[in-house]
Amino acid sequence: MAITRTLSIIKPDATRRNLTGQVTKMLEDAGLRVVASKRIRMTREQAEGFYAVHRERPFFHDLVAFMTSGPVVVQVLEGEDAVATNRRVMGATNPAEAAPGTIRRELAESIEANTVHGSDSDANAAIEIAFFFRPEEIVG
Ligand code: GDP
Repeated sequence: MAITRTLSIIKPDATRRNLTGQVTKMLEDAGLRVVASKRIRMTREQAEGFYAVHRERPFFHDLVAFMTSGPVVVQVLEGEDAVATNRRVMGATNPAEAAPGTIRRELAESIEANTVHGSDSDANAAIEIAFFFRPEEIVG
């Protein structure tokens, strides 16, 4: 298995509850390395662009409102098969369906305020990393 990268976002429900360190520790304990990180307040335009694939979903406007409701921490994670490793430690989208020990099962508030984002493929990871980071901001 190759060393690859993925994009993680620690969402506003987690920054509001001061869980940035706790989430990052769970990612690191899963074998992922934070090779870029910044705390930002997403604009509405950024959130709409980032989640453009969900534009037709009924929860799109609520999701954009939630993602812009407070600071987020965007991170590039590196590790063995990073996309799959991150999705495993994140757990299912709905925390009620997430496996015990996963970030969403242990920390998420709801299906929307579910603490973390993670890219769902290597191709999307590359697009999402470039959405937030310039190459020189990523230091492996
Ligand atoms: P993910 O890849 O596990 O994050 O899930 P999706 O790509 O399907 O959805 C993106 C994000 O939209 C999720 O992480 C949630 O924050 C939000 N979301 C997904 N499904 C729902 C839903 O049914 N209702 C609401 N309010 N938000 C949702």
